[in-house]
Amino acid sequence: MPAEVEQISPAQALERQRGGALLIDVREDDERAGGMPEGAVGIARAALAAGIAERARRHDQPLLTICATGHRSLQAAVTLRQLGYAHVASVSGGFRRWQSDGLPVAAGAFDADAADRYSRHLLLPEVGAAGQIKLGKARVALIGAGGLGSPAALYLAAAGVGTLTLVDDDKVEKSNLQRQVLHADARIGMLKTESAAISLSGLNPRIRIDARNERLQSGNVESLIRGHDVVIDGADNFPTRYLLDAASRQLKLPLVYGAVHRFTGQVSVFDPRSPDSPCYRCLFPEPPAAEDAPNCAQAGVLGVLPGIIGLLQASEAIKLILDIGKPMVGRLLCFDALAATFRELRLPRDPHCPGCGSAAVFAGYEDIQRICAPERL
Ligand SMILES: [Zn+2]
Repeated sequence: MPAEVEQISPAQALERQRGGALLIDVREDDERAGGMPEGAVGIARAALAAGIAERARRHDQPLLTICATGHRSLQAAVTLRQLGYAHVASVSGGFRRWQSDGLPVAAGAFDADAADRYSRHLLLPEVGAAGQIKLGKARVALIGAGGLGSPAALYLAAAGVGTLTLVDDDKVEKSNLQRQVLHADARIGMLKTESAAISLSGLNPRIRIDARNERLQSGNVESLIRGHDVVIDGADNFPTRYLLDAASRQLKLPLVYGAVHRFTGQVSVFDPRSPDSPCYRCLFPEPPAAEDAPNCAQAGVLGVLPGIIGLLQASEAIKLILDIGKPMVGRLLCFDALAATFRELRLPRDPHCPGCGSAAVFAGYEDIQRICAPERL
């Protein structure tokens, strides 16, 4: 290191900061999320050359650099000298010594656990601290803690979605375990919501699990999904899907649809907040007649298939929460595991749809007669 870069103690830095020097914390965004010296500005070292001009317009502005232990800040100070800043010093011992010396610290957006846990999100500019805070405040309702709900819930919990409401009234059965990876052999016979809560809190103890051991019906559908940001349809039967569709339209909640059958699956997003969005009934206007319904109880499914589809649902839910990317609204993504192909179909809104069409009338929630046994997705 060139000898001309001055190294000072945190206490000296604080004094100079009070005298008008600008203290720059050159650690990465995720490191600073756990806290920074009070009054410091955060500019990651790699972004320093591009970002400093905005903060320090004059080259005679005194600058101080700090990192975790004092190595990176020294290099950053050299960079600043090369950029023409005349008065630059690096804080030896870094933020670690700053803290151990008891100097004032501004709380970061996250505590150390969250900064560490979500560090790979915090590194993505599209998520970052602001996005992670959005995820933390978000509430997602998962209808079904089965094949689709398992992967979706695991990854949403891992991502730090603050509240997950799990709606399911089934118990864990051995035949579920081929695909419902939220559960465990030792928990056969336990309520699925309870078993799911064990796995999810084990993965991420920071999030809140609201376990609703209820069957979704006309009388409770609104109260179960109201107040959420996104609803994930992991239902295993048509009556639930039609109820969810109606309630999502009434409450204007985005619904992330997923379904699987044998070796194929499909995903879409129905978002009643968007005037162009189709709804579930644009795709399936009326429930199938009993004689046309598949014999669901006996329908097989490749175990990994709900894993793939459920994760696509989780990905869409996170995009909706963060308001990034292009949601799967107006598109139906079909996956064929045997062919290993994804096919995207256009799914426009149907003006004559019995659910969202201009002539559609909402006449209350209707419990459709159960037309087949649960598919046990
Ligand atoms: Zn519709």
